[in-house]
Amino acid sequence: MRTQGMKYQSAHIERRLRNTYRAGWSSLDPHEDVGRVMFLEYEHTVSYDDSGYEFAHSSCVVLFTASPHFREDHGRDPSPAEVEDALHTTFGGSNCQHDYDCCGCWSSGVVDISRMDDGVWSFDISSSRNY
Ligand SMILES: [Zn+2]
Repeated sequence: MRTQGMKYQSAHIERRLRNTYRAGWSSLDPHEDVGRVMFLEYEHTVSYDDSGYEFAHSSCVVLFTASPHFREDHGRDPSPAEVEDALHTTFGGSNCQHDYDCCGCWSSGVVDISRMDDGVWSFDISSSRNY
C-alpha cells in the first residue's frame, strides 16, 4: 500500500484512464491529473486480528482543488464521480508485483467516500496485507 506509514499533508489525485496492468504495474497505464487534495484530518490506526494479521485504517478529510490542466482539457471542473474515481486510484490498490506466494504486500481500498461542503470530502482507507 502506497500510503502505509506515511503522514499526508497534500497529494495530487489522478484518475486511471485504462486498466491494462495489474497491481504493482498500474502506474504504466495512462493517468489523468484531476486535482490536489489538502489533508484537513488524517488519522491512521494499525490493528491486529486474533491471528496476528496486521490491518491499517485511515480516516481522511480533505479539501479538493481542481487541476488547471483538467479544466483546460475538459472545459469544466471534474465531476463528483471523477473525483471519487481519482480517490480510489490514488489511495487504493496495491504495489504488489508478485505472481504468486506474495507474503505481505499491502493492498488497500477506499471506502465510505462522502462529499461534504464545498470541496470537502471525507473517506476511509482500509488496508491489509496479502497472505
Ligand atoms: Zn506481493
